[in-house]
Amino acid sequence: MKIVIRNARVLTLDATGAEHDCATVVVEDGVIRSVNPGMFAPGSFGAADRDIDAAGLLVMPGLVNGHFHSSVNHLKGSLDSLPLEIFMLYESPAGAGEVAPRVAYVRTMLAAMEMLRTGTTSVLDDAFFVPAPSPPVIDAVMQAYADSGIRVVLALDQPDVPEIDKHPYLRDLLPPDLRQAAAAPPPMDAAGLLACYRHLIERWHGGAGGRLRAAVSCSAPQRVTPEYFRALDALSREHHLPFYIHVLETKVQRVFGEDCLGGRSLVRHVSDLGLLSDRLNIIHGIWLDDQDLDLIAAAGSVVAHNPISNLRLGSGVMPFRAMRSRGIPICLGTDEAIADDAVNLWGVMKLAGLIHNVTQPDYHDWPTAREVLDCMISGGARAMRSPRPLGQVSAGHQADLILLDLDTLPFTPLNDLHRQLVYCENGGSVRMTLVQGRVVFEEGRLSTVDEAAIRAEARALAAATRSAPGPGGHDAARWLPYYRQMYLSAAGREVGLTRWMGPAVSGPGVLK
Ligand SMILES: [Zn+2]
Repeated sequence: MKIVIRNARVLTLDATGAEHDCATVVVEDGVIRSVNPGMFAPGSFGAADRDIDAAGLLVMPGLVNGHFHSSVNHLKGSLDSLPLEIFMLYESPAGAGEVAPRVAYVRTMLAAMEMLRTGTTSVLDDAFFVPAPSPPVIDAVMQAYADSGIRVVLALDQPDVPEIDKHPYLRDLLPPDLRQAAAAPPPMDAAGLLACYRHLIERWHGGAGGRLRAAVSCSAPQRVTPEYFRALDALSREHHLPFYIHVLETKVQRVFGEDCLGGRSLVRHVSDLGLLSDRLNIIHGIWLDDQDLDLIAAAGSVVAHNPISNLRLGSGVMPFRAMRSRGIPICLGTDEAIADDAVNLWGVMKLAGLIHNVTQPDYHDWPTAREVLDCMISGGARAMRSPRPLGQVSAGHQADLILLDLDTLPFTPLNDLHRQLVYCENGGSVRMTLVQGRVVFEEGRLSTVDEAAIRAEARALAAATRSAPGPGGHDAARWLPYYRQMYLSAAGREVGLTRWMGPAVSGPGVLK
């Protein structure tokens, strides 16, 4: 398949930062073959399966969603804002039944549809399954990505330690019956989880010409045994897989290090295990201190920044400049649909470009639009660890491209392309999305899926779930007072740094 995209404005985002007012991009067999500045007539590059007159359009690399969980994509808008530890009671209610493969397919497809429509061509999905994964649901998630046409790197985000070992304070706070329930072993042990990984890798890794790939995930260092953590690291090393790990998302997790790891932070803990590596995708990285940042920089890990999720869950503000000044690569993500509520990266870019301005008065340290775009595209490409490079409109790169209409309000008048991409665009100007050289979205519709049918099915499935009797809500209410006390106790602790606005420590007198 050969596609010629003629006479577009081109933002290459290559190493030289080249931009062309008018150029033609030739795509063949899923790869960009050449970028040719100047005006060209049809047929200038020989016979093609498709010739696209792209005058008035911008061609740029597709966006990369550096962190996402497909598992709750049907729950957008379900909850008011809550801290992570409390919100997870509702997200993963104990006693929830096994998810049907079709449900997993539909909720994943909804996300893929939203991403492709708004110009996201790659996603790093850290999928979790309550109570546990199984080959049929893994297949359903991957089949949705396969059918949609998006590029994906999928991991299984599952703990292998009891709930009570993942948090500070809980052991003392819980009444005996709940303490016993929280000390129960997780639904699937490490051997079972590793068997699921073997299935994921054998069945899907490298599928669809390399568009579908596997990653590994330990969820978070406090949620797994060192043995399982090491086994995942070995799997990641053997197959060159990205390794997802949520690290210091919340102040409660900072307190966990003080109380449960002998005063070592979770980053120190991972480093002491010898598992800090350049394969890690460190998700959030908010409550890091200087030593943590130095360790991450030395290891060469990438950090996934999810600013909307971080505000929705009140987690705090990631130390963006402290990371950039150490050379730590940053990618951007939406996180999941009940922590962002949309799978649209344009809002994420805008917030990433704004939130850090209120953390320090020296405006020389505020992010520029070019830096934010660099995080989105080259940071995202770095997180993907793709065997063939992506993230540039350059010969030899994956043909994951988006075409934006510059005759829209966000670009009218056009004063500065980079700033208007970051601060003005919302995804509404995306006219065409190509993944691996295949047009999957154009003229307002996806060519790969019956979107109306999927939306209708999602509504029907949601209605059926709501009417089914479930233990989730009731169960969360039983745990809530103790988790709230845990959260307030951590919030009131002095930990030597703060990532919240306002007072460094919110004591019991402040939080009621
Ligand atoms: Zn996450």
